[in-house]
Amino acid sequence: MKDYLLLVSETVPLPSDFNPEPLKLVDAWQGIFLEKQTAEALSALLTKVDPHHLIQLTSGFRSIREQTELFQTSIEENGLAYTNAYVALPYCSEHHTGFAVDLSIKNGTVGEIAPDFQDHPVVEAFLNEMANFGFIMRYLADEKTKITGIAHEPWHFRYVGLPHSQRITERGLVLEEYLEEVMSR
Ligand SMILES: [Zn+2]
Repeated sequence: MKDYLLLVSETVPLPSDFNPEPLKLVDAWQGIFLEKQTAEALSALLTKVDPHHLIQLTSGFRSIREQTELFQTSIEENGLAYTNAYVALPYCSEHHTGFAVDLSIKNGTVGEIAPDFQDHPVVEAFLNEMANFGFIMRYLADEKTKITGIAHEPWHFRYVGLPHSQRITERGLVLEEYLEEVMSR
């Protein structure tokens, strides 16, 4: 059983000897890899909410090296403030786990860092169903950004599995809050 509740953040980085091998990554879409159960759950969710295939996967698993390159390129292209808000440092990104997905709408902006995933009926359908398939919106807005350390990312979703996804989403929590509550029981 994999730890689908694994917390990875700026304050809780992965160990320096982190090895993605046991994740059993699978090619989820055109060379974008996800952990197997995450890929299967996403596929089932999209089959239900997106019959016309408008939603595309823009990012899944990233190696430490890929995250390092993304961070450096973003500093050059977008500056440090933007990069710190939206791009996690290497070892601090959920994308290393294979449990995180970035989604975009076809014909929307397919930026590597901030894809377009808002204000569309299929996005509404996705948001209404995601928790029933094990997914949460990971980086919520406003005061929650102080807890996650990441700006609101309406395109980034995290597989945590059932029933956690439903409990977290129903109560509008972020993963940090949920874990604290579970731990303190
Ligand atoms: Zn992401």
